Amino acid sequence: MQQLDLQLQEFSFPYTLTRSRRKTLVIYVKSGIVDVRSPLKASTKWINSFLAEKSPWVLRQLADQRKRKQQRLVIAEGSQITLLGHTLTLQIATSGRPRAAQQGSTLTLFVKEPKQDKLEKVFLDWLLEQARQYMPRMAKHYAKQLGVDHKLKDVTFRKTRTKWGHCCQDGDIQFNWLLMLAPQPVLDYLIAHETSHLRYLNHSAKFWNTVAELCPNYKEYREWLTHNGHRLWP
Ligand SMILES: [Zn+2]
Repeated sequence: MQQLDLQLQEFSFPYTLTRSRRKTLVIYVKSGIVDVRSPLKASTKWINSFLAEKSPWVLRQLADQRKRKQQRLVIAEGSQITLLGHTLTLQIATSGRPRAAQQGSTLTLFVKEPKQDKLEKVFLDWLLEQARQYMPRMAKHYAKQLGVDHKLKDVTFRKTRTKWGHCCQDGDIQFNWLLMLAPQPVLDYLIAHETSHLRYLNHSAKFWNTVAELCPNYKEYREWLTHNGHRLWP
């Protein structure tokens, strides 16, 4: 049941109000949109004072989300990416055969028409190819170092929003290949992390000690991913 209450006070941010059979007031801020959920008969006064109280938090969330959006990867002429320590400048060209070609420090994306989704596809396909050449090799290398190479079954790729990597019980390791755009120590940390799960399928102290064997500065790189992971997404 959606209803916009016009008597509500004006705040420095627009929001929608949804009344429903709930008992509490709550605010969600997602993708720059503020969404207030209230009980059916919540008074305007209650909602206003709740919004006033939460307003600094809402503004912080909105500013943070705006910043993160600006920091996202832009696939366009002249954009720069780093791949395994090398900076590449993107160039867009038209061609009947969509593909990506790297020459020196230039990566040319050939597309039939320069539309964003087409550019992204060509770019992501190319990046996946780079990931295939690097990540399984590193996972094998780390698995050998830990003496668990017999447990590593396969390395596959999946673009999931929630996780950078995943290790299954059966020895399958999955990576989000956008990680290839992270600084190399961060990329290697994530590979070391998933490979360490071949030894411990949890996040126990023993697990983190194993990660530290492969990657002594892992905390720094884990932090980097938390604060900068959004930059790797187009
Ligand atoms: Zn883990």
